Amino acid sequence: MSEQKREMRRRRRRWESVRARKTAELRVVSEPACHWCGVGLTFRGEADINALVVWATVDHVVSLAAGGSNEIDNLVFACAPCNGRRGATERLETL
Ligand SMILES: [Zn+2]
Repeated sequence: MSEQKREMRRRRRRWESVRARKTAELRVVSEPACHWCGVGLTFRGEADINALVVWATVDHVVSLAAGGSNEIDNLVFACAPCNGRRGATERLETL
């Protein structure tokens, strides 16, 4: 495995370890809406799993691959389509 791939893994693991906490912090300061297209977002556990809603994801404004941080000034809520459009390297995980 290349050093670059290893570094990406480390970054992702670091993100996974803080994701829940950062999401909670972000929810205090952000509207539950997509930063890019403005669609209202819903968090898992707060709606019926089969409801017709747009699930929230957390998006790194500067991607992890580009060296972006996990601090909330680099994090926004995004809908999956916007998040997916922006960075093919970011794994999408609804919250
Ligand atoms: Zn969006």
